[in-house]
Amino acid sequence: MSRPTIVVVGAGPAGSTTARLLAERGARVTLIEARRLPRPKLCGGGLTPKARRWLPATALATIERRVDRVELRGGRLMPLRLREADATIAMVERDRFDVALVEAAAAAGVEVRDADPVRTAIEDEAGVRVDTAHGRIRADVLIAADGEPSQIARELGVESPPARRALALEVDLPFPSQPPPDTAVVSFSVPAGYAWSFPKADHANIGVATADPRRYRLLRADLARFARTLGLAVDARRVRGHWIAVGLRTGALATRRTVLVGDAAGAADPLFGEGISYAMRSGALAAATVEDRMAGRMTDLRAYDKRLRRDLGPAFRRLAAIARAVECSVTLVLLTLWISGSVRRVAVDVVAGRRPPYAFREPAPEHISAGTQADLDRVPAKHAAMLS
Ligand SMILES: Cc1cc2nc3c(=O)[nH]c(=O)nc-3n(C[C@H](O)[C@H](O)[C@H](O)COP(=O)(O)OP(=O)(O)OC[C@H]3O[C@@H](n4cnc5c(N)ncnc54)[C@H](O)[C@@H]3O)c2cc1C
Repeated sequence: MSRPTIVVVGAGPAGSTTARLLAERGARVTLIEARRLPRPKLCGGGLTPKARRWLPATALATIERRVDRVELRGGRLMPLRLREADATIAMVERDRFDVALVEAAAAAGVEVRDADPVRTAIEDEAGVRVDTAHGRIRADVLIAADGEPSQIARELGVESPPARRALALEVDLPFPSQPPPDTAVVSFSVPAGYAWSFPKADHANIGVATADPRRYRLLRADLARFARTLGLAVDARRVRGHWIAVGLRTGALATRRTVLVGDAAGAADPLFGEGISYAMRSGALAAATVEDRMAGRMTDLRAYDKRLRRDLGPAFRRLAAIARAVECSVTLVLLTLWISGSVRRVAVDVVAGRRPPYAFREPAPEHISAGTQADLDRVPAKHAAMLS
């Protein structure tokens, strides 16, 4: 059989990971990114251990800080300070991190085209046709990794709302004087959402998110209020915002020749809006499904929809239930964490992705490679220790 040709639209974590995994399996892959790389991406840049298995050495080397202390705030309680070496959050800046993932894809043989927005995408009997600012490409398969909202999903007539859509605002500020820069702060002070302070190498990323549309217009005030609790002032002109599609889209996530991955599939979690690890996981499932089709084990790609829902659905449903419990009484939820060591243990396992259904249920198929031991061996020692 001739080498399958695949076009991946969008060079975020979902697109680069899918492209790399497919190229490693022998496909001819073109990764098309609308913007000139490196490009900024609004994001707290917090990576949980769930992302670890798909991180190539180039991406590990961009980790700026490893945080194992989290201060949980909310309700009428004193802040709860947790220290958990097993559930460290690795902090990255998305421009550097995303380029590192693209570099790993390019090293695997992916042709990368940046500053080349895709304008239209059409699926027909012969394959897919993608028109970009610089020309036309035909391929066997299209991976839509173009984020939220997904223009490709709209083009192909599979656009649908996510279970919920959160609005998130963020701003980079100097480190607060308290807590120290080895500690992340998560505050459930925002209705139907939360606020965060994530320490990077030389500054803190401060943000707020809410999934309640009635709170959208109050979100700037929520951000300023949270920053004040850290002794920081927000310059409103530097605040930026974007949507996070959480809980998976309600409509089809695949057609005969196209799959939606990452934010294009609405694959961020309903409690924290964590999306990077799920973007990579959906990419791994997409690559496995494309490989099954190319090997003749299935006739088209629609099985991906079921695979992704089976894989992420149970965890997302539980996280949505926890989000609802926090909305009802954050004091009660945090009190339970204060009192019960076993509940704290479960919470840490959720972040680390260690127990079902928060762990990715089935191991990635063996033929899908990850950050291999060889990759890790090439990482400078100071970075290799960072994702434990
Ligand atoms: C404020 C904020 C904070 C967040 N914090 C965190 C966090 O701390 N941790 C976490 O895990 N998640 C976080 N998230 C969620 C996370 O950013 C996303 O889930 C993640 O980026 C999804 O990756 P992706 O590859 O699917 O999409 P993206 O990263 O959005 O990448 C999509 C790419 O497609 C490109 N593109 C779009 N249209 C076209 C086109 N027509 N042609 C070609 N290219 C196109 C875009 O330029 C972009 O590069 C946050 C989100 C926000 C908004």
